[in-house]
Amino acid sequence: MDLEKIRSLADLLSQSHRAVFFGGAGVSTESGIPDFRSTDGLYHQQWDDPPETILSHTYFQRRTEDFFRFYRQKMLFPLASPNAAHRALAQLEDMGILAAVITQNIDGLHQAAGSKRVIELHGSVLRNHCMQCGEAYTMQDVLRSKGIPRCHCGGVIKPDVVLYEESLPFDAIEQAVSFIAQADLMIIGGTSLAVYPAASFAADYRGQLVIINRSPTPMDHRADLLIDQPIGETFKAVMPLVTARKQ
Ligand code: ZN
Repeated sequence: MDLEKIRSLADLLSQSHRAVFFGGAGVSTESGIPDFRSTDGLYHQQWDDPPETILSHTYFQRRTEDFFRFYRQKMLFPLASPNAAHRALAQLEDMGILAAVITQNIDGLHQAAGSKRVIELHGSVLRNHCMQCGEAYTMQDVLRSKGIPRCHCGGVIKPDVVLYEESLPFDAIEQAVSFIAQADLMIIGGTSLAVYPAASFAADYRGQLVIINRSPTPMDHRADLLIDQPIGETFKAVMPLVTARKQ
C-alpha cells in the first residue's frame, strides 16, 4: 500500500460532501464473486458460447433453459457477503461524505452493507418477475427451481438483470447522470470502464477524480489520484484516517 496515496485519498474524502462512487465487478471479487467476463479453463469445457452471448436477450429467448443453467451456476452467489469496500462506502454515506453509489454489479451487496442510495445500472439478481403476470420472486425462488423457473400462472420468471442487447433502465441512468453532475469527488473503483456506459459517464465529469483499479483504464490520464491496489484493502487503509479527520 502506498501510504502517500492513502493520505491523499483521505484528504479528498474528508473535504467532500457530495462524492459519488462508480463501481464494477472488481468491488465484489473480494467477496468471492468472480467477474463472469474472466473465463477460466473449466468454463470452456462446460459452455460452447462466451458469457456475453449466453447473457443476451436473444439467448434468453431462444435457449431459456441453458440460460438458467448458466445463470444459476455463474451469476448467483447466495452466500456472498459485503467486504471492506462495501462497508466503507456505507459508512461514508452515513458520515455525509458520499451522496450515492452507482454500480454495474447486480449482487445487492452495497445494500446488504447498509448503503441507502444505490443506483443499479444493470439491475439486481435479488429481484425477479413473472413475464406474464408480473408477480415478484426472490433469488431463492429462482435457485430452488429446476430448469426454467415458472410462475404459478405458468409464465417464465425473468431476473431483473439487464441482459446484453437490452437497454439500461432509464431512471437509473438519469439518477446517475444527476449525481455525477453534482459531485465534488468521483471515485471509480473495480472497473476497467470497458463496459458501456461507464466510460461515457466518466468522460463528462470535470471534478476531482480518483481511480482505484488493478488494471489501466481509458480515464487514467484524467485522474487526480490513481491507485492500482485491491479496492477492499484500499478502503480498509483509508477509513481510519477519514474518521480521525472528521472528529
Ligand atoms: Zn405469473
